[in-house]
Amino acid sequence: MIITIDGPAGSGKSTAARKLAAKLGIAYLDTGAMYRAIAWAALQKGLRLTDAAGLIDVARTSDIEVDCGPTHTRVTLNGTEVSEAIRSMAVNQATSFVARIPEIRQILVEKQRQIGNRLGALVTEGRDQGSVVFPNADLKFFLDASIDKRSMRRYQELIADGEEAAYDMIKENLEQRDGNDRHQWAPLLEPATAIHIDTTQMTIHEVIERLLEEIRKRNLAP
Ligand code: C5P
Repeated sequence: MIITIDGPAGSGKSTAARKLAAKLGIAYLDTGAMYRAIAWAALQKGLRLTDAAGLIDVARTSDIEVDCGPTHTRVTLNGTEVSEAIRSMAVNQATSFVARIPEIRQILVEKQRQIGNRLGALVTEGRDQGSVVFPNADLKFFLDASIDKRSMRRYQELIADGEEAAYDMIKENLEQRDGNDRHQWAPLLEPATAIHIDTTQMTIHEVIERLLEEIRKRNLAP
């Protein structure tokens, strides 16, 4: 069983996907972490973000392992633990450059399909999971929320992690990423068959209940 959850940054899809997978007792895949890992490697190498050939080479030669547990995602790149490092503001921004390159998308789409085939059952989360990667998924969700709510969630997450954060900067960064993600080269695509859920006024508990309700309706729960 494959369940896809797509949506913009801060829509609550990561938390929802993680918790839903835990409830169902199946795997969870955070595909954003894969794009982030390549961006991190490119920054480490000191590559210019406009150097498409260099970025593609990093994607081709990087061994990315993503282990998504019920409480956290553990990412290693060529054996180096990068789970924390890939969440920095610098990586946030660099990832858009990585995600716009078709060759890199192709490499990661292929890897995501392999993971899907290997695991058989998973909740996978990103921008293109229901549209491009798993068009035959059993169930597709698309989560969205207002830009203010999404910015506030990111702000509160960072503060809870003990990081310094400025709400206005976060909002600006999200707006920029929205612009990039909706562009054709890094598609945030809403499949026609996806169930659209606006989470602006919902708690995470309510979102999970809603997702489970749709799953139960279809007798998909394992
Ligand atoms: O979900 P997350 O915020 O970690 O994703 C980081 C970035 O990776 C997104 O802003 C987007 O540019 C890119 N991405 C993508 N396709 C995916 C997942 C993420 O292009 N399936």
